Amino acid sequence: MSLFQIAEPGQSVEKEQCQQRRAVGIDLGTTNTLVAYVREEKPVVVPCLDDSLLIPSVVHYSEQGDVIVGKSARALIQEFPKTTIASAKRMLGRSKEDLKNIMEFLPYDMEEDRDNSQKMIMLNLDGKKISPIEVSRDIIKEVLHGASEKTGGVIDSAVITVPAYFDDGQRQATRDAGRLAGIDVLRLLAEPTAAALAYGLEKNVTGCYVVFDLGGGTFDVSVLNLVDNVFKVCAIGGDSSLGGDDFDRLIAKKMLDVAQISLNNNAQIVQQALYNARLTKEQLSIHESAEFLLPLSDGTVFRHTITQQDFAELIKPLLDQIGVICKKTLKDANVVNSAIDGVILVGGSTRSTVVSDYVKQFFGRPVLSDLDPDQVVALGAAVQADMLVGGTAPVLLLDVIPLSLGIETMGGVFEPLILRNSTIPTGATNTYTTYADNQTGFDIHVLQGERETAEGNRSLARFYLKGIPPMVAGMARVEIVFFVDADGILHVTAKEETTGIETSVEVSTSYGLSDEDVERILLNSFEHAEADMLYRKLQTARIEASSMIASIQKAIIESSSLLEGNEQKELEQSILMIQKAMELEDFNAIRVAMKELEKTAEPFVERCMNKAIVAAVKGRSVLEIEKES
Ligand code: ADP
Ligand code: MG
Repeated sequence: MSLFQIAEPGQSVEKEQCQQRRAVGIDLGTTNTLVAYVREEKPVVVPCLDDSLLIPSVVHYSEQGDVIVGKSARALIQEFPKTTIASAKRMLGRSKEDLKNIMEFLPYDMEEDRDNSQKMIMLNLDGKKISPIEVSRDIIKEVLHGASEKTGGVIDSAVITVPAYFDDGQRQATRDAGRLAGIDVLRLLAEPTAAALAYGLEKNVTGCYVVFDLGGGTFDVSVLNLVDNVFKVCAIGGDSSLGGDDFDRLIAKKMLDVAQISLNNNAQIVQQALYNARLTKEQLSIHESAEFLLPLSDGTVFRHTITQQDFAELIKPLLDQIGVICKKTLKDANVVNSAIDGVILVGGSTRSTVVSDYVKQFFGRPVLSDLDPDQVVALGAAVQADMLVGGTAPVLLLDVIPLSLGIETMGGVFEPLILRNSTIPTGATNTYTTYADNQTGFDIHVLQGERETAEGNRSLARFYLKGIPPMVAGMARVEIVFFVDADGILHVTAKEETTGIETSVEVSTSYGLSDEDVERILLNSFEHAEADMLYRKLQTARIEASSMIASIQKAIIESSSLLEGNEQKELEQSILMIQKAMELEDFNAIRVAMKELEKTAEPFVERCMNKAIVAAVKGRSVLEIEKES
């Protein structure tokens, strides 16, 4: 049974149907936003504003306080470049630092949000401050308003898609945008997964598939296995700053170069050039050549013909980049080209013949594009939304986490709890103990990355578990639970088991993580693997040595009466040797010195043990027994 009952124009919707829960899928794209829902067991895209299916993700904020979304807003970009916001998705959950590479093309006045420790970017629209989250909220609000008019009911929940590589901060920001728009965000779904879902259910395929999604601002490639209605994402790769917009930029830059116009202080002409570059590029998907036009301030028009060949040369470096990412992703998935059953094309930029030819050639096979590449993500999101509110067949969706997650342990060592490419939702638990006597707090540093050193990885959050009652070192048991939910957001809880005190965080990252970052982190981890391992061994040896020293020093004080002859002096000598070894960068030296101390201390330790056993038997403390003797 279909979940939605559509009111034909002029037909009233019955009350009961109005009260039905309405869930849609939203493809909140950098360039275009689409809304889809399941009608009579089939997902369809809803025409929202001006009866179009693709709503440009552009918002204009007028001086009078009006908010204009979509095509009409896009038409105002050139006239009001500073108050018409396009590509807000690229700024979602990101800081100024993250955006430095594309800053020159963002004509808005931007500043960092001072009230926000994560330094998220804020836009300043002629004095009025607005965050990219609010811009996204306005897009969602408007398209849902249009969609609910078309579908004749109130939409109260949605599945929103995000690029697979969106990090925690970017996902949170997307979820917040949906919530601010007044809907229940059922789930954030990775775009390629959504695309595969649309194909899987439509075509009922099984096998190994690659989803190649090149949109306006992002590139995602995923390797998926479809078996018995279960989708498993084996690996994901991509670049959250690579897409059709970059093609436009390359064309615009080249044309402005040819026309000898500088990029500086010319926001309006740059915007016009970018807009016209896009038109030229889209023409090139149908024609062998197209003309680029640019009206100049002196009333003349600059004209230049671009051929498909020119375009192919211009974007070659970007296609090369894409090829590298694809290769790596296949390798991550442990899949060779010949094992792939099909390649699914997603995103408007795959309409460029230069791009689709490249994909065909790279994978050496024809590509699947039966479903409209512009719509496929929204269609998949609609299917998922329908499933979540109790619609049709239960299909399991398994996404993966892009980088390992873990904590910093003693000596700056990174201990991963959840490994890279684990399918989500996923969780892991580990128990730690206090290092010092009477330690009443526990510093928890959550990290992401593949290096063995905490320092080499990316810091996600730090928090402190306090209120542990004073105990002997090693007595407290702190259980740390990591849980990555279906939206890819990490929840960390720390609990001291003997007392039950507990604290937790929902990790929102400080900085956006671009795919170059992920790439760099991975490469770094390979390069440093050996050094990291040595470092880990060294740190572990140092920790064990200091703990050994501490317990022997404690015994010397507490059981001094058990020391014989020169024993104390010998022990102190051995301790000094370890301390010297600990200053060196050689874990072997520490191990040797530890062995030495162990040997020296053996008789004394044995005596202490006997005493302790006697004490335990008599039910008295060691000190009491000592006082007696
Ligand atoms: P996003 O997912 O980032 O919102 P889309 O999948 O909607 O993006 O793709 C938008 C991009 O597709 C834009 O860069 C647009 O110029 C490009 N595009 C749309 N149609 C065509 C076409 N016919 N030829 C080439 N590029 C196209
Ligand atoms: Mg898209």
